Amino acid sequence: MVKEIQLRVKLKEEKIADILKIKAAQQLSTAVKHIESVKILRKSIDARKPTIITNYKVAVYINEPAPEPTIKAFHYKDVANAKPIHIIGFGPAGMFAALRCIELGYKPIVLERGKKVQERRRDLKAINQDHFVDEDSNYCFGEGGAGTYSDGKLYTRSLKRGNVRRIFEQFVFHGATEQILIDAHPHIGTNKLPKIVENIREVILKHGGEIHFESRVVDFVIKNNSLKAIRLQNNIEMDTQAVILATGHSARDIYYLLHKKDIAIEAKSFAMGVRVEHPQHIIDSIQYHCEGKRDELLPAAPYSLVHQVKDRGVYSFCMCPGGFIVPAATAMGEVVVNGMSPSKRNNEFANSGIVVEIDVEKDISNFNQFGDLKGLEFQKSLEKLAFNAGGKTQTAPAQRLTDFVTGKLSTDLNSTSYQPGLKSATLHSLLPKIIGSRLRTGFKVFGEKMKGFYTEEANVVGVESRTSSPVKIPRNENLEHPQIEGLFPCGEGGGYAGGIVSAAMDGERCVEAAIASFQERK
Ligand code: FAD
Repeated sequence: MVKEIQLRVKLKEEKIADILKIKAAQQLSTAVKHIESVKILRKSIDARKPTIITNYKVAVYINEPAPEPTIKAFHYKDVANAKPIHIIGFGPAGMFAALRCIELGYKPIVLERGKKVQERRRDLKAINQDHFVDEDSNYCFGEGGAGTYSDGKLYTRSLKRGNVRRIFEQFVFHGATEQILIDAHPHIGTNKLPKIVENIREVILKHGGEIHFESRVVDFVIKNNSLKAIRLQNNIEMDTQAVILATGHSARDIYYLLHKKDIAIEAKSFAMGVRVEHPQHIIDSIQYHCEGKRDELLPAAPYSLVHQVKDRGVYSFCMCPGGFIVPAATAMGEVVVNGMSPSKRNNEFANSGIVVEIDVEKDISNFNQFGDLKGLEFQKSLEKLAFNAGGKTQTAPAQRLTDFVTGKLSTDLNSTSYQPGLKSATLHSLLPKIIGSRLRTGFKVFGEKMKGFYTEEANVVGVESRTSSPVKIPRNENLEHPQIEGLFPCGEGGGYAGGIVSAAMDGERCVEAAIASFQERK
């Protein structure tokens, strides 16, 4: 007999396997000797009270052995001579679209503007050290997309949008630790992601798929409202019947291209703000009710904050415990910050985006002349502002948190994980009021919710502008663009995902829709 139950165990308890057996026996009113094994299905930490508890969801095997643990296998076909589906972009949406093609017997032909993960590293170094941003190879563009040199947090609010477990199992199949199947807040880490991305590439190539790096798509050939070919930057044209457009929310040239070709796009609400960075020990002491170092059994503490200020949400976004702030610009002349962390989350800083919802219809009417690109142009204008305020390099403008809230230039700044460096600037007055004033109120409230959060030991760094797409590429109930047969807008760039997992799920869904469209067209 197998029973699934919840168990609560004090963090400091040793010999966890034995404790779980004893607790399970008590809860199920049976003797320990009848319990053959206890398998952990889910694990989370409850640190709300001073005595920290670990919550377990377990499967208890009573008088029967547990099956041998196996990694779920995925079966890929040889698609070398199969019907092709073109995929633009090799981020999470593009990668999982390509894998799904192979599972279903279609040949993915991937066009990716950036380089392979290893080569990409050199370009990231150039951003951090030489302040040089390559427009095709940076923290957002290249193999694995924006997801590669990210935090690799795999939590998603999109549980209704697809099979999250299936995505996790594919990550494990391609080299992620099985722990992600158990943790309530699974996380891979930026040091582990490149290898997983490489493994995915190898599987695609081994089964006859194609991946073309340094192949930027610059145009679409459309006849009678049907997509016939895609054109690359070197003028090569590829005939196609179905294109999964998974170029992410930083591929502004794609939005401009669609706009220029009168292919419908829509302005979409999004969020913008700053990244706040604290010493990790401050966040640990607040979240774990400890002074000084956290218990070694505990991970670097995360937080999640939200507050409504004047009808708009102000909230933490992409919080990275034990992480780094990274320069995520995709062109020279802009400063954009984001965050990542290694698998051990052992850096001395905690950073998080703190962003304000922007209602694209109500909040930025001074950008109305840009029509459906108004959100994008607003985003761009703030990134340029940050660039100028930072000293026209990748050095980012920053302020102590308390100075940001009280409206003073900081005489000096706290140390930071942001490699290109910080420059003291009056961020509070640089940001438009719709963002700046809400952030200031938000930070004060967050300081009340988490005592110690509002501190001069934290820096506020600008700007956190790429939270989600400011543009939506519409699609009909068959996930096809309503105007263009054969074009399937996908992932974060289409406005259908917000993170690695939801982008991956959307990639799979778009491939299924493209295949269904072939069958309908027959
Ligand atoms: P992208 O990942 O943006 O991929 C798009 C791909 O298309 C890129 O590789 C790009 O080079 C390529 N491309 C663009 N234009 C063209 C073109 N014209 N021709 C050919 N190729 C093109 N999300 C999480 O869920 N958890 C996290 O911890 C997390 N941390 C992040 C940290 C950082 C630093 C960043 C930048 C993002 C982070 N994100 C995180 C967000 C996450 O990475 C994205 O939501 C996700 O990658 C979106 O997937 P996508 O495939 O839709 O697009």
